[in-house]
Amino acid sequence: MEKLLNKRVAVVGYGSQGHAHALNLMDSGADVTVGLREGSANWSRAEEAGLKVASVEDAVKGSDVVMMLVPDEVQPEVYEKSVAPNLRKGAYLGFGHGFNIHYNKVEPHQEVNVFMVAPKGPGHMVRRTYTEGKGTPCLVAVYRDVTGDTKDVAMAWAAGIGGRRAGILETTFKEETETDLFGEQAVLCGGVSELMRAGYETLVEAGYSPESAYFECVHEMKLIVDMVVEGGFTSMRSSISNTAEYGDYEVGKRIVTEDTKREMKKVLEEIQDGTFADKFCTEYKNGMKNLKGTREEKSKHQMEVVGERLRGMMV
Ligand code: NAD
Ligand code: MG
Ligand code: MG
Ligand code: MG
Ligand code: MG
Ligand code: MG
Repeated sequence: MEKLLNKRVAVVGYGSQGHAHALNLMDSGADVTVGLREGSANWSRAEEAGLKVASVEDAVKGSDVVMMLVPDEVQPEVYEKSVAPNLRKGAYLGFGHGFNIHYNKVEPHQEVNVFMVAPKGPGHMVRRTYTEGKGTPCLVAVYRDVTGDTKDVAMAWAAGIGGRRAGILETTFKEETETDLFGEQAVLCGGVSELMRAGYETLVEAGYSPESAYFECVHEMKLIVDMVVEGGFTSMRSSISNTAEYGDYEVGKRIVTEDTKREMKKVLEEIQDGTFADKFCTEYKNGMKNLKGTREEKSKHQMEVVGERLRGMMV
């Protein structure tokens, strides 16, 4: 953390990760300015939280370390227009995910140090765990080291947002980018959501109540996953009934089959060869029509309506 205390730092963006990095670093004693667009709704939110706020241009101009926490798809234009012209030689440019550096969508000039601190959790957990005296694990990487101390700055940043309390691991931009995309697509977001949806629909289509289907296929997921995270699969299985454990071994492999794994390998190849990255950038250029349409459609699923009612009942 010391490596940051004598530096001025800018956090560009105040969304999921941006608010967490900015607030945690401020609470850790760093001199933080949040860089935002003029007129951004987040401007007053950040000020009310006690942070200094400036335009992206001014925040970058006055800083030694600049962390890019606007959405991946807008980083190239924000970098070109507002960051690059104001970034001084020998400054440190940070990322929360390796996407734009790894796929060459942002190409920082040669005199700038480039590092990454990627928390392995959603931004709101990065903030919540910090305020609870805990932390979120972080992956740290250095892409370019001009001044010879970029790794120290990256480590200090990770420590300042609370990462040291949970573990800091060194990696590369390539490894973080490819494993992060694969994890969120195949397992954590895509895989898990579709698994829960398919299970829910199977029960409801067979005539069971949406409430029972929601509890069995959605709500209880967290309880099982918490046990895996805390003690591993063996420990989780020692807590479930023998009936559940026997069903797990007999049926799990019929749901996630060899075909599923073959498809996972294809998904990984499309991440590795840049196919996915190009598709996502094209989607952004076309106004995110598919993303917004699917978001709207998914939000109307019966599971969401039932879930909202049940969550209301459980508090
Ligand atoms: P977000 O969508 O939550 O927040 C983006 C912020 O940028 C918002 O404050 C928005 O107002 C601002 N913004 C948008 N367009 C802008 C523009 N043109 N100019 C200036 N500001 C603009 O973003 P996020 O999900 O926190 O993602 C930020 C980075 O962190 C990405 O690289 C992402 O991959 C990485 N990351 C995110 C998570 C997560 O939990 N969401 C986890 C790990 C890594
Ligand atoms: Mg989001
Ligand atoms: Mg991730
Ligand atoms: Mg990600
Ligand atoms: Mg049960
Ligand atoms: Mg058992």
